[in-house]
Amino acid sequence: MEQSFLIKPMLDESYPVIDYGKGVYLFDMEGKKYFDAASGAVTANIGHGVQEIIEAMNEQAKKVSFVYRSQFTSEAAERLANKIAEMTPGDLNWCFFVNSGSEATETAMKMAIQYWQEKGIQTKTKVLSRWVSYHGITLGALSMSGHPVRRARFTPLLEDFPAIHPPYCYRCPYKLEAPSCGYLCAQELESAINRIGADKIAAFIAEPVIGAAGGAIAPPKDYFKVIKEICEDHNILFIADEVMTGFGRTGTMLACEQWGIVPDIVALGKGMGAGYAPIAAALASEKVMEPILAGTKSVMSGHTLSANPQSCAVSLAVLEYLEKNEIMKEVECKGVYLRNQLEKLKNQFTFIGDVRGKGLLLGLEFVGDRDRKTPFPRKTMITQKIISIAKEKGLLIYPAGAGIDGVNGDSIIISPPLTITKREIEELALLLKESLEALSAHLN
Ligand code: PLP
Repeated sequence: MEQSFLIKPMLDESYPVIDYGKGVYLFDMEGKKYFDAASGAVTANIGHGVQEIIEAMNEQAKKVSFVYRSQFTSEAAERLANKIAEMTPGDLNWCFFVNSGSEATETAMKMAIQYWQEKGIQTKTKVLSRWVSYHGITLGALSMSGHPVRRARFTPLLEDFPAIHPPYCYRCPYKLEAPSCGYLCAQELESAINRIGADKIAAFIAEPVIGAAGGAIAPPKDYFKVIKEICEDHNILFIADEVMTGFGRTGTMLACEQWGIVPDIVALGKGMGAGYAPIAAALASEKVMEPILAGTKSVMSGHTLSANPQSCAVSLAVLEYLEKNEIMKEVECKGVYLRNQLEKLKNQFTFIGDVRGKGLLLGLEFVGDRDRKTPFPRKTMITQKIISIAKEKGLLIYPAGAGIDGVNGDSIIISPPLTITKREIEELALLLKESLEALSAHLN
């Protein structure tokens, strides 16, 4: 291609031009095949080129693609909101559509603040969060993100919402093990609330499984039960950031269901449109909507393209596809099969320190010394190396942070489309093995 003026993530790297995608594969213009073991950025949950979605897109486009949400609603938006309410736990019945995960978490944050305002409490404006977290790139979402690298440039503009350690058992700051640890990392929330003052805190936000900041860190069993109890005891709403985990990634519609937790507010994104359309949402429970409906009757957020029928029709088709093909039911089993393959790789490569995750959101953490869990020196750039070696071999995996601060460590996420078959899992594992062998040769 001649000179390009597209701003790419790293302007000095070469980016293959993709031609088309089918199932778990992408093909570039040169005919090279890539195994999409990351679903892009944990997004293409039902794989590429699904005919039913293309048909749903066309059908909606023939009718109407855009109506402005302040003037009209649409059949697609109404049906999608109803379907999400039906498929999510508890009474998360209210749906505010936006276009990206960052907008969803930021809308969730604003909903929580508005909830207290509508109840006559103006002081509860903070949304506490954890370190080693990522809730999005807009300034509100970044304020909640415990991601030092992404925060660094904008620090003067950000709130200091990250307040507690994550449930990162592999690197427990207390050097304890769950459940005998008493979930001290969750108890930190209570100390933070007492320090800051519950009268200043609207909500606490967390990713059920930590994604980009930590490399698929799943919490121990009762962690979220303890968190939810602390939130309830102190009159603080609980927001689950399910942008990466929602829409079936761990085998249930919301990952919170894995631990029997119903959040007050949920942020959804990524898998909602499965890469076929930009769409995300903030869901609110009846409790949250009650004072808003009795008060101003309007959630103070919104974007021009919020609830556009085109994206809503796509998301509805994605949900129907997941349901019709009973895809979520198989996620646990496929996840265990893939995890077993990853454990075998851990036996072979001593620089794999940890295999973790839930469902089909799995991660590997790399260490220089497995016994001491010492990260590789930063200049080794292990994450970048394995990503580029794998890409060269036609395998796409997702880079993530690691280390107690989420910065000084290396991890990758393996999150193939939920539609992956057993044979494809084996192919993925083989490509990953070959990539790790090449990395190993490079390290020696
Ligand atoms: N929340 C989580 C948990 C995410 O993983 C991401 C993106 O990686 C976001 C929010 C932000 O979503 P988006 O990139 O669509 O703005």
